[in-house]
Amino acid sequence: MAGLHLGLYLQQHGVPSTIYGDKTARQLAEGRMLNTVAHHNTTVRREQALGVDHWDLQEYGYFCHHHYIGSPGPGVPPLRFPGEFGAPSRGIDYRVYLPRLLDDYTGRGGDFRVGNVGPGDLATVAADHELIVVATGKSGQPGKPGKQGQSGQSGLAGMFPPRPDKMPYERPMRRLCGGLYHGIAYSEPKGVTMSIAPGHGELLEIPMFSADGFVTALLFENIPGGDTEVLADARYDEDPKAFDDLVLTTLRTCHPTVFERADPATFGLTGPRDLVQGAITPTVREDWIRIDGNGSEDGARYAIAIGDAHTLVDPVIGQGANAASYEAWELGTQITEDPVFDERFCRKAAARRANRVEATVDWTNLMIGLPPAPHLLELLGAMSASRPVADEFTDNFNYPERQWDILATPERTRRFLSRHTSAAMERDKDVI
Ligand SMILES: Cc1cc2nc3c(=O)[nH]c(=O)nc-3n(C[C@H](O)[C@H](O)[C@H](O)COP(=O)(O)OP(=O)(O)OC[C@H]3O[C@@H](n4cnc5c(N)ncnc54)[C@H](O)[C@@H]3O)c2cc1C
Repeated sequence: MAGLHLGLYLQQHGVPSTIYGDKTARQLAEGRMLNTVAHHNTTVRREQALGVDHWDLQEYGYFCHHHYIGSPGPGVPPLRFPGEFGAPSRGIDYRVYLPRLLDDYTGRGGDFRVGNVGPGDLATVAADHELIVVATGKSGQPGKPGKQGQSGQSGLAGMFPPRPDKMPYERPMRRLCGGLYHGIAYSEPKGVTMSIAPGHGELLEIPMFSADGFVTALLFENIPGGDTEVLADARYDEDPKAFDDLVLTTLRTCHPTVFERADPATFGLTGPRDLVQGAITPTVREDWIRIDGNGSEDGARYAIAIGDAHTLVDPVIGQGANAASYEAWELGTQITEDPVFDERFCRKAAARRANRVEATVDWTNLMIGLPPAPHLLELLGAMSASRPVADEFTDNFNYPERQWDILATPERTRRFLSRHTSAAMERDKDVI
């Protein structure tokens, strides 16, 4: 998606581009599901600007988060509260979304070449272009647990050195089971449910439009060793009914606010291809590399990584694709503003995206930390008691750098909460 957003941006600004991709639009449409992506409104606004806003927000969008935090122990009640966006988000199955955007790109005259580009091909490709952008994603299914590097970044992305200073985890913190389901009524107002089962993991329930129409994505983020981890290994193809029963039982025991909208008679995975299981080791790579080492600046070519090839995060707060789109947009802007593709260009490109993208990485890594950081729990507790706090947290899914301003340290969280308390007292003064 990063490659397409960049290609569409450049096309719109009259800059020639070529996209090399290993799948045709048809192969993208007919393949296995690789993710369950929701785009926040900042990404939707980029889609509008690119002329690819094909799915009306009132019909296909959603408007809030519904939170459920299960009881962490005896005597502590569960929490249930909403948080509202300033403007809607939207979930479209990438097997519908990507082929449509690829058609847009080629339909507007874009040069799309089908084929696998490996590290060995780079010099040849570079000879034909002034700048190379690597947007190869995590390449395939999320890796199987316990096997490092299996998030698939050994190819082109693997040419960009990792950044240990931004990689606090050596292994996945969650084991994933994401699927599309029939038989769950949408929440009211239509929203994403973020349900936390303390000690076991999270569930994201996302209203999604797929080739099957309006369905529900359930993404279980399972803590290794927790009760729900079994979902990451359950084999749908071996016994579809047993799989569906297991998911329904997990909803009942761990995520009751989703279970209460499930209809056992019609509940089930929409099809065998509509399931993704695996795990992601969060990875950050250097922004750029020099790919032609012949020594002369004239012959030098540079490659810049965007999207998952640059920063690969756990999907627990649905930020990877939104960051990928943002990186594409920022890079496109710089290409149009300063098309001199030298080392200075690369340094500027890295700097202009760093604040938001690094905040995305840091915030996501905080959310999957074990045990959860006390100041994160403090914020979640405050959200349950204050609608403005919950709304601000929710809308900040559009602005990860603002969220990180709140969560980077316990002191920042305290300052944020005391600002809200003062604002509430000011408001109350006026109520007689
Ligand atoms: C279960 C799950 C749920 C998610 N939910 C969300 C969410 O709600 N919100 C969110 O923002 N993000 C979410 N993400 C993350 C999101 O899917 C990624 O961040 C996003 O797709 C990255 O975009 P990209 O352009 O970097 O890579 P991709 O979209 O993966 O595109 C890379 C493309 O490059 C092609 N390719 C790879 N290697 C080569 C090669 N050598 N030669 C040619 N072509 C190649 C691939 O086939 C693919 O088409 C989720 C991820 C998962 C796994």
